[in-house]
Amino acid sequence: MSARTPDEQTYVGVELCAGAARAALVTGEGAVLGRREAALTSVDLAAQVARLVAELRDASPAPVAAVGVGVPGLVNPQTGRVVISSDLPAAVREDLRETLGAATGLPVALDNDANAGAMGEYAAGAGRGSRNMFYVTIGTGIGGALILDGRLWRGASGFAGEFGHITIDPEGVECTCGNVGCLETVASAPNIVRRTHERLMRDSTSSLSRLGLNKNFTAADIAHEARNGDDFAALMMARTGRYIGTAIAAVINLLNTERVVLGGGVMEAGDLILQPVIDEARRRAFQPNFESTQIVAATLGPDAVPIGAALLAREAARGGS
Ligand SMILES: [Zn+2]
Repeated sequence: MSARTPDEQTYVGVELCAGAARAALVTGEGAVLGRREAALTSVDLAAQVARLVAELRDASPAPVAAVGVGVPGLVNPQTGRVVISSDLPAAVREDLRETLGAATGLPVALDNDANAGAMGEYAAGAGRGSRNMFYVTIGTGIGGALILDGRLWRGASGFAGEFGHITIDPEGVECTCGNVGCLETVASAPNIVRRTHERLMRDSTSSLSRLGLNKNFTAADIAHEARNGDDFAALMMARTGRYIGTAIAAVINLLNTERVVLGGGVMEAGDLILQPVIDEARRRAFQPNFESTQIVAATLGPDAVPIGAALLAREAARGGS
């Protein structure tokens, strides 16, 4: 039994991806006191994460109460097991919460990375002051998470918020999930690149684009050229924004969320993508719903998942869910 209240303790939040971990020491209010990053190998992953936790624990001015981990995959909140993840080694999926708990000697909370990112932005970023928030992260994949009346909405089995797998084109490209034409198949970073390559081949207006000079461009390169006045690159970003805005209009109509927060690497294109998202959502959503929603960019950048994972660990340590 500790005499301290939870807010006098600190928490470690970790974002786990295929090749790296990003960890932060976080207060109960979501302020970052320190950060650590490390490249990961797939062998004995829990021990590598435990080392990052130990370093932050040494640096902490107060006892670390719990560890939260955001993973790229579906996590069953009851069992703490990662159910589906294309990015993590199979051994980790089996009992990450237990092995990490044993390696750190601390309670461990495991959650989907989009859920963690949403909690971070809600408590300490672009979602502050709202009670109902939809969070979208657009990068290599597209994730989503929902905060309703101040709480993360997990759904029946913990898998709510799979925004990237909403169908946007019934005749479209096959998705990794098995469906055809998911939002992710047109608007994730690799798919923005794929669409741009396809259009470079058949669109005569693309002939002036600098993107034609480099066969290995990335979504960040497309955004960069768009910012430098490349009309074709700007068109590709705008069309991507329209796809995202179309899906967001459906979310706004369904939930009447107060705020929609957009994060992830693709949003680094700024207004080049945010404005088309807003314009398309305005065009497609029921007007009173659109007018009661603010669509804004996330503000925490790479801190969102570690902060949110730490706060989810705090909630779990306090007996919440
Ligand atoms: Zn899909």
